[in-house]
Amino acid sequence: MELTVLGKYGPYGKAGGGCSSGYLVKNGDDFIVLDMGCGTLSRLMSQVDVTKIKHIYISHLHYDHTSDLLVFRYLLEELNHTVNIYTHHEDSQWYNILFDHPNFNVVNIDEDTVINIGSTELRFLPMKHTVTDYAIIIKGDKTLCYTGDTLFNDNVLRCFEASDVVLADCSKPRGFTGPHMSIDDAVRLAGQYPKVQIIATHQSADYDPKDDLAGTGIISAEEKTTYTI
Ligand SMILES: [Zn+2]
Repeated sequence: MELTVLGKYGPYGKAGGGCSSGYLVKNGDDFIVLDMGCGTLSRLMSQVDVTKIKHIYISHLHYDHTSDLLVFRYLLEELNHTVNIYTHHEDSQWYNILFDHPNFNVVNIDEDTVINIGSTELRFLPMKHTVTDYAIIIKGDKTLCYTGDTLFNDNVLRCFEASDVVLADCSKPRGFTGPHMSIDDAVRLAGQYPKVQIIATHQSADYDPKDDLAGTGIISAEEKTTYTI
């Protein structure tokens, strides 16, 4: 299984090229896109023939995880290509604006949903953020979890128990209090689950956690980088 970081920043990109949240997972011949924040479509197009993309997961409906879905529709129309979108249902205007399109086949997920794509299995766990957010657990030849945006909660532990690698929203500075995990949480989880590789993402444009994570075994996510899982 391979994970490519298309964009790692939130809630907006970084001057000079940083994009907001978006990731590409490849398991065998199966591709799954995780979130589509601003700037991630062009990076996705540079990684793969978009007609091979059939499955897109949206963790939650904040703009930094969804905005490129809007322009992606123009490309899908040109290509006459339809994709499955996996996301929870929400009774909101933004949900309708985002997903009401003939090239989007929306599949609503919750904690009980299991989706099989070829040799890849997808499951979902509710997280804790300012809006509804689900983590996705992708089981193929290895198991990867992506938390979306969340602060620490008991289901984060379930993510770690199920996974070889956790791509986690855990890049805020020490002492941070808010709807994301900090590097304090990341270091604690790394100690609790020494066999699980953490990739710390959802980074702020004004704080790079790389130095503070040095020596912890936690990887600070790098854009345009592919990690073998
Ligand atoms: Zn968010």
